[in-house]
Amino acid sequence: MGLALMIVDDSATMRKIIMKTVRMSGVEIERTEEAGNGIEALEKLNQGTVDMMLVDVNMPGMGGPELVKKVRELPSCSNTKIIMVSTESSQELIDNMLASGANGYITKPFTPENFQKKLMQCTN
Ligand SMILES: [Mg+2]
Repeated sequence: MGLALMIVDDSATMRKIIMKTVRMSGVEIERTEEAGNGIEALEKLNQGTVDMMLVDVNMPGMGGPELVKKVRELPSCSNTKIIMVSTESSQELIDNMLASGANGYITKPFTPENFQKKLMQCTN
């Protein structure tokens, strides 16, 4: 059975690129959702949980760090994997995101190969 996936990024172009890269990675996807910021993502999660979220850090309204904390408070999302996807690459931020509940971190620009590697790490 494939994954239910949510892509959260304020750039519609970046959401398309991420979607394309996920499809190229060979990971089986059953359903995809998109959200433009943390608030939209939480609204969609209230209607149904997902197996994996790919989450940008910087977004207007509610960014990735706050979203991760809120998702980790939702019992329905206790098994949801969260992978951050961001141009921000400071080790401090990466460590903070992992400490607050993210399962992985991918820096932009990414290659299909390193994207696939992270997805595989998180789906196994
Ligand atoms: Mg952004």
